[in-house]
Amino acid sequence: MTHEDCIFCKIIDGQIPSAKVYEDEHVYAFLDLSQVSKGHTLIIPKTHTKDIYETPPEVAKELFAKVPLIANALKKAYNPIGMNVLNNNEAPAGQSVYHLHLHLLPKYKADEGFSAVWVTHENDYSSDALQQMATEINESIEN
Ligand code: AMP
Ligand code: ZN
Repeated sequence: MTHEDCIFCKIIDGQIPSAKVYEDEHVYAFLDLSQVSKGHTLIIPKTHTKDIYETPPEVAKELFAKVPLIANALKKAYNPIGMNVLNNNEAPAGQSVYHLHLHLLPKYKADEGFSAVWVTHENDYSSDALQQMATEINESIEN
């Protein structure tokens, strides 16, 4: 199922060249042009899906199932000291290509490449407030 204006669908189809890392029935993995760190790889489902919100569970399952395989290959090839797996959804969160993708970002030095800015607001929430929030989210789950 390809999407005609989608650059990642075109990469899967071979209409746009890519540095392919891995391919099987369900997924395609290739080097991100930006190479935030050496070996920066994108894993995408062959089924076009815009973002995590629109992704059917089966597609998510097949996509994530291959993350350990590629992460271990990067670890073996380049011996990073860490690995971030990242998925951006919608422009304010950094999404620029609207075909679901997971970034595999090997970490070689603590202060280089990708770094998550982790702002802690732990002191702003009581345990009651956390329970209340958990209930609100749970009540929003639609199976
Ligand atoms: P995001 O910003 O999370 O949507 O990530 C999109 C990523 O796709 C960026 O890191 C781009 O560098 C990468 N990208 C865009 N076009 C290509 C391409 N033709 N080949 C490889 N990577 C690409
Ligand atoms: Zn697509």
